[in-house]
Amino acid sequence: MKLELQFLGAARHVTGTKHLLRIGDTRVLLDCGLVQGPRHIADEQNRNLPIAGRDVDALVLSHAHIDHCGALPRLVKDGYRGPIWCTEATKDMVRMMLLDSAHIQAQDARQLRKRGHHVEPLYDEADVERTLQLLRGVDYHQPFQVTKELRVEFLDAGHILGSAIVVMDIDLGRRHRRVVFTGDHGRKNLPILRDPERIPECDALITESTYGDRLHELSVDMLAELARIVAEELHDGGRVVVPAFAVGRTQSVVLYLGQLMREGVLPKLPIFVDSPMSREATRIMGRHPDLFDKETAALLKAGHNPLFFEGVTYVADVEQSKALNQQRSGVIISASGMCESGRVLHHLSHSVPRAEDCVLLVGFQAKGTLGRRLLDGETHVNILGEPHTVRCKVRSMPGMSAHADWRELMDATAHLSKRCKQVFVVHGEDGPAETHADRLRDAGFAQVYVPYKRDIIEIG
Ligand SMILES: [Zn+2]
Repeated sequence: MKLELQFLGAARHVTGTKHLLRIGDTRVLLDCGLVQGPRHIADEQNRNLPIAGRDVDALVLSHAHIDHCGALPRLVKDGYRGPIWCTEATKDMVRMMLLDSAHIQAQDARQLRKRGHHVEPLYDEADVERTLQLLRGVDYHQPFQVTKELRVEFLDAGHILGSAIVVMDIDLGRRHRRVVFTGDHGRKNLPILRDPERIPECDALITESTYGDRLHELSVDMLAELARIVAEELHDGGRVVVPAFAVGRTQSVVLYLGQLMREGVLPKLPIFVDSPMSREATRIMGRHPDLFDKETAALLKAGHNPLFFEGVTYVADVEQSKALNQQRSGVIISASGMCESGRVLHHLSHSVPRAEDCVLLVGFQAKGTLGRRLLDGETHVNILGEPHTVRCKVRSMPGMSAHADWRELMDATAHLSKRCKQVFVVHGEDGPAETHADRLRDAGFAQVYVPYKRDIIEIG
């Protein structure tokens, strides 16, 4: 029986993850994420998925970020009816992420219609509900049978709550192969989360490479850096706008700010978490305390809630969000993380033209996004269709990232080089992916590929 991998998304790119495991005639899709970036490119790819729903037998999902799960309802709309396997925490998160995604699409479609463009949403709430029916939650370390030949086990990836390293054992009759998919690989010492688990011996590895050519700052430096940036705004009389995914970085920033205020490094200042999803995400995290690291468990035990404390406001309704336009101090954390959509756009349109304000980028900014343009120092940007001159400070703390840097990726995978014959480097733009591939070759991995979209490679 032939065993192959086909790369249908996040190949030389960071969004739209879709990897297809082909075992004989069986097709198992790993993740089904949305492509993000300029609308005309992303929309076409999200609308015309590279595989039809009816051609997929089963689906395994690594975690709930939208670039990994956001195209699931489209696949279901296109005929997918099989199970979607994920961890229990991911199952909780996916519900919220997909409903929010459907909501944003409906809103976008309405706005575009006002400007005379007719755009159908990729999917609606009913498609999301149908998708949620297919979710099968499994705990970490509980191997389960996906198809006759494929057995899967989830290990903690330490990236966001519920994120998994996917260990796949494939029985091919006379031979047995183990393929591991890193998913998005987290980092040691991230706030709240447990450290990523050790990746077990395997025959083939699919590894992410988002920061394949970068090293992050240490977490101790990050606290100091965050304190410095916020103190600068207190001095300048401006506010800090932090674009962040509702899940992950948002909670990290809140936790760090709480710590700095508790320790007296920063005075008490207002923090607004303005994304309808963030409160829900934070609540879901509260339902899975068993997945927290030791430090967070100890904080909770001591009576400090690191995510809900005096001074933090989770903004629910639109009116309250609009009122933040008058808020001239403090910190506003709002989605989306790459400034492509969501309420953060309103806050940016008010802060970008003001020299006293600061935009703090804490996550990866993909090519073509508004976040990347700000990061690259562009002086004129369009926000919500309006031109703006960039006068604010733009600061970046890539060290806040929930993705491993190249050294952390090497530390997590170098021990596999003896048995692991094939490595597939995905989820990275050309530069980082190629750089990381070279390092893996230097570390003794025999065959290292940086696949292009649609490439099919046999696993020996
Ligand atoms: Zn992720």
